[in-house]
Amino acid sequence: MQPISATQALKDYRCPGCTSIIAPGTAHVVVWRADGVMGESADLAARRHWHSHCWRVA
Ligand SMILES: [Zn+2]
Repeated sequence: MQPISATQALKDYRCPGCTSIIAPGTAHVVVWRADGVMGESADLAARRHWHSHCWRVA
């Protein structure tokens, strides 16, 4: 899990926690598996962007 600052958030993402869009310029977190059996590239492709508050309650 890695925090993304507002200035790093250049695109909009769909948060899987609340299914709403994370607007550009919104600080949030990006989450991925580091232990995937499909390898590192598959792990990177499976990254998910969450609102910080949605990830905390997940
Ligand atoms: Zn959310």
